[in-house]
Amino acid sequence: MHEFSLVSAVIDSLEDYSVQQGWGQVKKVTLRVGAMRQVIPETMQFAFKTACEGTTLAGAELELVNVPIVIKCPQCGRAWGEEHMGMICPYCGCDDAQMTQGMELDIDSVEVEDDGEKED
Ligand SMILES: [Zn+2]
Repeated sequence: MHEFSLVSAVIDSLEDYSVQQGWGQVKKVTLRVGAMRQVIPETMQFAFKTACEGTTLAGAELELVNVPIVIKCPQCGRAWGEEHMGMICPYCGCDDAQMTQGMELDIDSVEVEDDGEKED
């Protein structure tokens, strides 16, 4: 279950931010996860919950945003996705195509509880 190692890397950086920014309780974390990461959402949720225990993120909710794969040809400029997974351009045959999207594991946003200032 590689979700655990992905999640602990994310939590490590969130804990650093949390200390730097003086965050209160983290309510929700939104992660952008590329399709190439082959993450199983349920496993990711479980890993996140487990790895958060005993950290400043305990109890935070996790939202996953799936980022589809995009491969782009540098020669003809066309792009394609999972329907043609190869790295050879289906349009011009160029074999130097690059994956431009799909490897993401980015923190998109974090919702933090406001300490002190209560809105009512
Ligand atoms: Zn091409």
